[in-house]
Amino acid sequence: MGTLSIINARVVTMNARAHNGNTAAQIGARHGAAMSDLGVIENGHVCMRDGVITSVAPGQPASLVGEVIDAGGRVCMPALIDCHTHLCFAGNRWSEWEQLRAGESYESILAAGGGIMSTVRATKQATVTALAQELGDRLRALANLGVGSVEVKSGYGLDWQSEMKMLNAIGEAAKNSPQLVVATCLGGHAIPADNTAWPEQFAAHVADLARQFPGVAVDAFCERSALSVQQCREIFAQAKKFNVTRRLHTDQFNSMGGVAMAIECGATTVDHLEAADENSITALAQSKTIAVLLPCSVYALGGAYARGRSMIDQGAAVAVASNANPGSAPTIDMRFAMHLAVRHCGLSTNEALTAATWNAACALGIETKVGSLQVGKRADAIVLEERDERALTHGFAGPPPRHVVLAGKLMSYRH
Ligand SMILES: [Zn+2]
Repeated sequence: MGTLSIINARVVTMNARAHNGNTAAQIGARHGAAMSDLGVIENGHVCMRDGVITSVAPGQPASLVGEVIDAGGRVCMPALIDCHTHLCFAGNRWSEWEQLRAGESYESILAAGGGIMSTVRATKQATVTALAQELGDRLRALANLGVGSVEVKSGYGLDWQSEMKMLNAIGEAAKNSPQLVVATCLGGHAIPADNTAWPEQFAAHVADLARQFPGVAVDAFCERSALSVQQCREIFAQAKKFNVTRRLHTDQFNSMGGVAMAIECGATTVDHLEAADENSITALAQSKTIAVLLPCSVYALGGAYARGRSMIDQGAAVAVASNANPGSAPTIDMRFAMHLAVRHCGLSTNEALTAATWNAACALGIETKVGSLQVGKRADAIVLEERDERALTHGFAGPPPRHVVLAGKLMSYRH
């Protein structure tokens, strides 16, 4: 694979102890005030060999062999991590977009078989190969925007065969992707009208998931229009029994007790939280469960943003993700999610950077591999056009980073 060095960079390591010369791997999400420490090396370098980081330090490397990128003082930081996407799907929702713009309500579109159910129908009909191909194209687009690790959920199958088909397609696309791809089984996404017993059936399939797809997390949507707290609890009980990681979409529109249940069941993340009440935020801040903010869907749908500021002030660990999906978040741009997290959820730039790198890695359980620039980790880094990282959350709808390096390989190069 060869050797690549990025020199003369403002290195944002995301390793909070880097400035003390301590490069020991840190474990666990950063909570509260710890989210602000970026471990910046003012003028430093990052060297990589065979896809792995070999040096992160101030000044010039001891020797320069192979490819060299002179950053000229620009920011070099870990590649972004998108810890919540629905990028495996078939079909599109463009007609629905026009219907919505013409004044039709989402509820009436849903009642007529549109919305998420139109994506479920198209995805059920698609082959593994077609799904993997489409997903592969989307992953490449994310890579160009500087996203090095991506979580991809199933959840448009809503029967066991179709959910497995989606997980197989995600696995297939992952093999050909330059990124680290993490699959999640979102079997509890919705309840199909023709099978209201699906949530209980899915709970019974968690044992199959653990056996056939080791390491894949379960996810469900706890909401009035989706699964009840009790149905999600049942899925989580099975997951706990088979040592499967738990994640939950909850408090997007209604606060029904999903956060408390998820914490009680040892969930790794709770995602959305726009409607989370004060008690839920306090409970979250006192727990190890990571709050994943998804502001792109609030931008698309309207409504109140999640109260990220209050969460962090109370000591919670917060991550930010794109929630990329064909309906409520038709974007693949993590930088836009970070911009919205700062603009509308009250995060500082430093906190948004932690939320989109280190804490996002923790949400996926991959923080020993990615999420910071540290010796021994996967060589995933981006070089921004700017010499100050605040530009990353200030700007939106801008050009991709100047350079993207994934697993030690330069993906793009602009002058
Ligand atoms: Zn989602």
